[in-house]
Amino acid sequence: MTTPRLLVLGTGGTIAGAGSKATGAAYRPGDLALAELIAAAAALDLGAELIGQDIARIGSQDIGFAEWRALHAACTAALADPAISGVIITHGTDTAEETGFLLDLTLPTTKPVVLVGAMRPADAVGADGMRNFANTVKVASDPAAAGRGVMLVMGDAVLAASDARKAATSSIDAFRSFPRAALARVTPARLDWFGPAHRMGEGARYPFPSALPRVAILTAGAGMDARPVEALLGIGAKGIVLAGMGQGNAPKVVIAALAKAAAAGVPVVRSSRVDEGLVDRNVEVDDDALGFIAARALGPAKARILLMVLIACGITAPDAVQAAFDRA
Ligand code: ASP
Repeated sequence: MTTPRLLVLGTGGTIAGAGSKATGAAYRPGDLALAELIAAAAALDLGAELIGQDIARIGSQDIGFAEWRALHAACTAALADPAISGVIITHGTDTAEETGFLLDLTLPTTKPVVLVGAMRPADAVGADGMRNFANTVKVASDPAAAGRGVMLVMGDAVLAASDARKAATSSIDAFRSFPRAALARVTPARLDWFGPAHRMGEGARYPFPSALPRVAILTAGAGMDARPVEALLGIGAKGIVLAGMGQGNAPKVVIAALAKAAAAGVPVVRSSRVDEGLVDRNVEVDDDALGFIAARALGPAKARILLMVLIACGITAPDAVQAAFDRA
């Protein structure tokens, strides 16, 4: 069997983080060069050839359109290169779900594209980054990893990027998967897929946008008034994602202001500030009458990504936007 050749795209994050003390809390994300991470991995003899390419060296809280465009271009080139078997993206965990989902929406599923991060900096006692990285090499090297969409490896689990979300601020088991469970368990020694590749042969669902429109997330809180909605429209929001209470609820005055926005052609997606669960149409809010879209399984961060992509593609009619959320 030939040795798989994997492209490793580095963006920074805690997996490339370093602190001043192995037992301290403070650290700098993206402090370590990708080449150092790859050299350390090479010493583990992981059975793959690793080719590094720096995209950025930042905390993922600062990631945005320029890095996403560079990642998409590098992935597209790698998918077209017969010498590359898969792509690994080292990434901060704060926004891994956003980058992963954006790439999932805009890349074909022909080869594995796998994000990996860490919750502890590389020089911390009990660092998780190198284990996660070794696990990711195992996943990206496996021909059976193709046809599953973009994935995220954290905490010995392989999650679909469309389902993954960060649910804890600091534990190494920080990610959850909803509505589907993990796709596989992985350790440096074993990889067990829980089912067949379910997206084999899928092309990119959407073209990668040439620019991203301003889409804001508005978090609902008890007793709030409508002025934040007016402020968002005032700064030119092209779409609004409500991180609502429960099944995407908000005070009546907020719902009324959002209905006005929807009537003016600004798509309004109702998601939930609750950690997990579906937001369905017409439960306590009359979406049909008010022109809203229900986010279904997508939390606010991923709902914003999908809405940005849809608006960039000129898809703004509530029915068409709802169909895209139903499919996600
Ligand atoms: N703030 C860091 C980042 O997202 C956290 C991490 O990587 O775990 O880059």
